[in-house]
Amino acid sequence: MNVLVTGGLGYIGSHTCIQMLEAGIKPVIFDNLYNSNESVLGRIEMVTGASPIFVKGDVRDKEKLIKVLKEQSISAVVHFAGLKAVGESVEKPLEYYDNNVNGTLVLVDAMREVGVKSLVFSSSATVYGDPASVPITEEFPTSATNPYGRSKLMVEECLTDFQKANSEWSITLLRYFNPVGAHPSGQLGEDPSGIPNNLMPFVSQVAVGRREYLSVFGDDYPTKDGTGVRDYIHVMDLSDGHVCALNKVGQTSGLHIYNLGTGNGYSVLEMVSAFEKASGKKVPYKIAPRRPGDIAECWADPSKAQRELNWKAERTLQQMTTDTWYWQSNNPNGYPDH
Ligand code: NAD
Ligand code: UDP
Repeated sequence: MNVLVTGGLGYIGSHTCIQMLEAGIKPVIFDNLYNSNESVLGRIEMVTGASPIFVKGDVRDKEKLIKVLKEQSISAVVHFAGLKAVGESVEKPLEYYDNNVNGTLVLVDAMREVGVKSLVFSSSATVYGDPASVPITEEFPTSATNPYGRSKLMVEECLTDFQKANSEWSITLLRYFNPVGAHPSGQLGEDPSGIPNNLMPFVSQVAVGRREYLSVFGDDYPTKDGTGVRDYIHVMDLSDGHVCALNKVGQTSGLHIYNLGTGNGYSVLEMVSAFEKASGKKVPYKIAPRRPGDIAECWADPSKAQRELNWKAERTLQQMTTDTWYWQSNNPNGYPDH
């Protein structure tokens, strides 16, 4: 099975390519290198012994997509490519709608022209907005509070309408909770450019000495210790979820929606403490005001994915923090030329 992986050199895409190769699926990576670099290819090869095909290209380039889909005999597409920084999306909404929404429409149009009818899309728990309760099931109402979240929601809605009109298509929307961790080899991990927006990359950069302290955004939430609670999921578990989605529903027509989370919620302070234990390093922190737009707590009911995809997150919090630290301490400045 040859699968086009847009954004396949990024954080989640690169780990998913590894798990695909381990499962006998051949990834063809399509990435414009906007937020990644080519050295990731060598790392994938180091870990798997296989070198995936890489095409440098933008998902808004329909002609290039058509060429790759045809030449590589692609049977399904996993679509990771896009922009993902919430704060930046507020400053640059057009760029987000163009890349995330328009990019997906161009991709689907190219697939339609070639006759590739299976798509797995990277969505996010952000589409649940501020949920009325936890755990969150796939039936919860959706909403958006920023352009990034709205772009994910718009894509979900476009794809739902499109699938309704084209019933032979198989479209899977995977709603990720909070991906963390790294490949256990220490060769691949998250490498944000600039100041990290997300908690774990920030924590690990503090531990490795790149930043002085962590700002904990709010300690007065109605949660177990006052800090925000999230469903952190190991990126390897998330990657396995894509392989299961490709195996189980990639061949079945319909519109399928799954939460990919663990079902457990950890607070910011619990994450800091688990990371300190895994790394043996102190992570100094200061309590700071709440970050605008943040919610108190959010975790998944992942039982639908277990029932229908036969997928379940297996890796523990200790593995998430140990693997993050192994990656960060081996690569204090991320990938070489980044
Ligand atoms: P990432 O930035 O590491 O990877 C995205 C990749 O897409 C990068 O390699 C980038 O170069 C590429 N890209 C961006 N725009 C492109 C375009 N127009 N054409 C071709 N390639 C393009 O991000 P990630 O964390 O791996 O996230 C992957 C997907 O998962 C994104 O769609 C993101 O919105 C979604 N997601 C991520 C998280 C998270 O916390 N990391 C959570 C929920 C959903
Ligand atoms: N967080 C924090 N300091 C940071 C980054 C994040 O306290 O420097 C908190 C944030 O308020 C939230 C949790 O960590 O409660 C997870 O935030 P992240 O940005 O990683 O994910 P998301 O907000 O998308 O769930």
